[in-house]
Amino acid sequence: MKYWKKYTEEELNQKVSEALSRTLNYDNTNTIGIPGTKLDNAMFYDGFDFVKKSPYLRTFIQNPNHIGCHTYDKADILFGGTFDIERELIQLLSKDILNGEDEEFDGYIAQGGTEANIQAMWVYRNYFKNEKNAKHEEMAIITSADTHYSAYKGSDLLNIDIIKVPVEFYTRKIQEEVLDSIVKEAKENGKKYFIVISNMGTTMFGSVDDPDLYANTFDKYELDYKIHVDGAFGGFIYPIGNKNCTTDFSNKNVDSITLDAHKMLQAPYGTGIFLCRKNLIHNTLTKEATYIENLDVTISGSRSGANAVAVWMILATYGPFGWLEKIDKLRNRTNWFCNELENLNITYYKEEMMNLITIESKYVNDEIVEKYFLTPEVHNDTNKWYKINVMEHVHLEILNSLINDLKNHLNSSTKTA
Ligand SMILES: *Cc1c(COP(=O)(O)O)cnc(C)c1O
Repeated sequence: MKYWKKYTEEELNQKVSEALSRTLNYDNTNTIGIPGTKLDNAMFYDGFDFVKKSPYLRTFIQNPNHIGCHTYDKADILFGGTFDIERELIQLLSKDILNGEDEEFDGYIAQGGTEANIQAMWVYRNYFKNEKNAKHEEMAIITSADTHYSAYKGSDLLNIDIIKVPVEFYTRKIQEEVLDSIVKEAKENGKKYFIVISNMGTTMFGSVDDPDLYANTFDKYELDYKIHVDGAFGGFIYPIGNKNCTTDFSNKNVDSITLDAHKMLQAPYGTGIFLCRKNLIHNTLTKEATYIENLDVTISGSRSGANAVAVWMILATYGPFGWLEKIDKLRNRTNWFCNELENLNITYYKEEMMNLITIESKYVNDEIVEKYFLTPEVHNDTNKWYKINVMEHVHLEILNSLINDLKNHLNSSTKTA
């Protein structure tokens, strides 16, 4: 671990206070040329004791604007202190969580996983246009049928065709022969440049794709590709303590990754994260962004620096071992639940190391679905699966209650059958 360590409350407070002292404080400034100020004092009064004691709330009220991407543009205009925390956070995530090597990484805290995925597709579309002279019709986004719908938003916005690769029903994996024939056909149809969205934990199944399967197939057909990994759900779980993880920056085929701190990390909404290797993000530079002195390569525009501080503070509060223990607790609950399902002979899907369980719909009735708010794969009668996310608040008591309800439902349906 290079950056990730556990801080005491005192150390956290010191680090954030030091950063805030190097970040514009509107209470004490001649800076009058920007449309920004601290949060409204009538509503967000900063004289309360609990605010003074909370480094996060102080940052929130001081209201730094993190517009731009600060690993790319090192200009420390106005908000340099909290920019530094965001920069350190991007390196921590890329290297200590996602196993990148000593190189530097680019990245920024985005609105959400959706924005981070679209940022990736935008970077690669422009990369193929700028550096390979690719035409729109020669490019395609390619991804599994279980991929989050943000890939389709990106395809629409960026005007790039999207190719959906089916997965096998019970393993939720892409089959090599299937991918091979789809790529072969796309090549015959004139596609030469591929933007891959490979999953590290799909929303519905928690399933993990193998980026090397894509890489090998494109290499075989001598096609150009860039691989983005969507770890919005799985990125803070799957790689943790997992020596078999090959879908992070330790894999040379992976060029960028999405994380979402507002899911497993329990950070405030507005903490999606885009991470990528160097020498890519300049492709989305908006040259017309002349009024900000920092160059803007992001989709966002203005965004709160407090979000970066929140994510960094959560990781620093736990440290790597504290986080491992927390994730292992969720994995234990998940495994406990899977064992109970096996005792009942109920078929389910669970990816190794993940905390998501998807149950085949025939074992569940409407009453159970409503009682526990189980999410269906599709909201109509073709639905085949319901899922359970084992989050922090999902204690064994709730899971046990669900098991009892499933058992009763099984017994009553075998009686009527
Ligand atoms: C949640 C999720 C997203 C979208 O993230 P938002 O933060 O809701 O924009 C993208 N991909 C996956 C796999 C997700 O689970």
